[in-house]
Amino acid sequence: MATIYYDKDADLRLLKGKTVAIIGYGNQGRAHALNLRDSGIDVVVGGVPDATLRQAEEDGFATMSVAEAAAAGHLICLLIPDEVQQQVYREEILPHLKPGKVLDFAHGYNVHYGLIAPPPDVDVIMIAPRMIGVGVRDAYVAGRGVPAFVAVHQDGSGEAWPKTLALAKAIGCTRRGAIESTFAEETELDHFSEHFVWPATFRILVGAFEFLAENGYQPEAVLMELWGSKEAAEVLAQMADVGIFRQMDFHSPTSQYGTLTHMESALPADTRGRMEAALEEIKDGSFAREWELEQASGYPVFTRLKQAALAHPLNEVEERVRKLAGE
Ligand code: NDP
Repeated sequence: MATIYYDKDADLRLLKGKTVAIIGYGNQGRAHALNLRDSGIDVVVGGVPDATLRQAEEDGFATMSVAEAAAAGHLICLLIPDEVQQQVYREEILPHLKPGKVLDFAHGYNVHYGLIAPPPDVDVIMIAPRMIGVGVRDAYVAGRGVPAFVAVHQDGSGEAWPKTLALAKAIGCTRRGAIESTFAEETELDHFSEHFVWPATFRILVGAFEFLAENGYQPEAVLMELWGSKEAAEVLAQMADVGIFRQMDFHSPTSQYGTLTHMESALPADTRGRMEAALEEIKDGSFAREWELEQASGYPVFTRLKQAALAHPLNEVEERVRKLAGE
């Protein structure tokens, strides 16, 4: 069973007199910074001088370059996109990583695949909220907090765990419960969802749209049925709130019977083989190598696939359906 930490397990006093440097003021950076400040922690924000950093300034934070923030911070939260972390780390953070400092990540990718390897006398920790940044902030303000994975990759100070829990508490993540994890587990689970669960879901939805439209059903009606009405989103929310099978009571007996009798036969027999292949390329690092190469080559495959996705006829149908729904 997983170890789960709550507010009672964390001591905010460990962060008193310490400065937390938030590097990057985007989705997670802004939410982390605001939550930490509201928890009584001293925060500075490091970034490049542009609109995002001005937003941090307007929000009342002391802003500075990444290098200056890394120098000022006892704890450094690296909240810039994973794709630029290596370079920014090497050039602007590493020179300021003195013994006893804490380097915090919100996703395990770069550390897990050895792309960032901090000196051994530094604490390397992770607080990875299972929520987009706006949700992290909104939940904190509402007094709820969001769940997170927490992990210690490297305990340079001998106190990395208590510091991790204190930081997680200040962000609001121990209110609902923070699951003790590892950089490997967080990265591999995240990628498995991205490489199997969501692609399979997208393929089924897009395939069902194409199939039903080809069979004479009105595209707008199909799209409304499949995801446009937000019923699917509500079902997913109920799965989290009530349970994947318990939420079935919100549907008619006809719906429940139809779902349960078709559940086993709906996917091809080799689905487990696809899962094994997806996990294998994550665990052996071949996906990470492919992605590094794609970035170094200027994103040719990514650009082509994204352009093709956005050119699919369903995008236009979506616009019409959104208007229909008054949004
Ligand atoms: P965003 O893309 O929202 O934010 C990026 C921030 O980094 C912006 O302030 C951006 O500034 C700044 N930035 C970009 N490039 C550089 C650079 N070269 N030097 C300095 N600053 C730079 O990132 P996220 O918040 O989405 O992601 C941050 C981390 O959080 C990642 O590790 C991600 O995996 C993790 N995470 C994200 C979640 C999410 O919901 N988005 C959920 C859980 C974890 P500007 O806008 O000016 O370019």
